[in-house]
Amino acid sequence: MARSTGPCRIETGVEMHVLIVEDDERIADALGEAMQRFGHETTWAATGQEALLAAEKTEFVLLDLGLPDLDGQEVCRRLRERSWVPIIAVTARAEEVDRIMLLQAGADDYVVKPYSMRELLARVDAVARRAARPATGGGPEEPREDRWVAGPLMMDLRTRQVEVHGSPVSLTRREFDLLAALAADAGAVRAREDLINEVWDANWHGSTRTLDVHVGSLRNKLGAREWIEAVRGVGFRLAVPDAS
Ligand code: CA
Repeated sequence: MARSTGPCRIETGVEMHVLIVEDDERIADALGEAMQRFGHETTWAATGQEALLAAEKTEFVLLDLGLPDLDGQEVCRRLRERSWVPIIAVTARAEEVDRIMLLQAGADDYVVKPYSMRELLARVDAVARRAARPATGGGPEEPREDRWVAGPLMMDLRTRQVEVHGSPVSLTRREFDLLAALAADAGAVRAREDLINEVWDANWHGSTRTLDVHVGSLRNKLGAREWIEAVRGVGFRLAVPDAS
């Protein structure tokens, strides 16, 4: 999958309704202006409670973790419980971030203040693109090829539901993303680094064991370990019977 590598390349193709959760009005205004300049529509929430109420109607969340009423990570978790809306957490100090906790709370990425607007917009763009994958084209709102079927395995890429032999299988977000990344090029060997970049983040410095853990749980849930074939020293291949 091609990734943009230019230092300042900002795509404006994905236009979204962005929820800005920020108690500092000046920062919220600056963010709103920048987002609007890039074609996004914005809504401002100054508290965690407002954010939880407003999030439903939006397609992307920029979440300041230092909020007056609720703990930012808690807001993140609650948002994630009810939707797959992409979330970028914004934090005041790097030391405050337990990166793993934040990602486990369901944030897709985070930035540390002070950040450059350019960096933030590039991250928004990258997360939005990842959230839209593996769509065959266009943004999350556009119709796309929803169902991916190979033999007994069915994935609905829009509703994020998975069935094996017609029975629903409950996957976590990462497990689903991992399966989708494998299915995007079924039969081909996907390199470990590519999978980590696509499913987690290009800046993910966690152990590659994270990938193995997710492959393991995905295999267990699918009930057919051989469907995800390990290729030693390279990565993994989706090998569902009848996959083409
Ligand atoms: Ca704050």
